Amino acid sequence: MNKFRDALYRFMYGRNGVDALNWALVILELAVSILSSIIRVQGVSQALYFVSMVLMFTVLIRIFSRNLARRQAENAKFLTWWTPKANAIRGAKARRADKAHKYVRCSCGAYCRVPKNIGKVELTCPKCGKKRVVKT
Ligand SMILES: [Zn+2]
Repeated sequence: MNKFRDALYRFMYGRNGVDALNWALVILELAVSILSSIIRVQGVSQALYFVSMVLMFTVLIRIFSRNLARRQAENAKFLTWWTPKANAIRGAKARRADKAHKYVRCSCGAYCRVPKNIGKVELTCPKCGKKRVVKT
């Protein structure tokens, strides 16, 4: 088994491997292939199956690619698009989990955190300085 692992390491040396974009493509591929098995419309399900195959081959080509500069540039492009969305999702999750505070969205887009159950408070936005009265 060690011999196999060493051979795999040697084979993968200098290749792109699995990066964030590949993970995203795998998830997309799974979603599309599940859709293609759920949708039982002639033509649509075949088209989705084809799309999932294309995605799968794209992932395989990206994993074994030796053109690291291009693969890394693609991954960086993907991450600049995805990271703000991932942060927004993470932030929303954290706000929902926090039962001790109320989150007030300011018109400038900032979230202001106020302790719950303290009555009316005047809130000053730390980002734009706008004042407003909030019930907590
Ligand atoms: Zn503000």
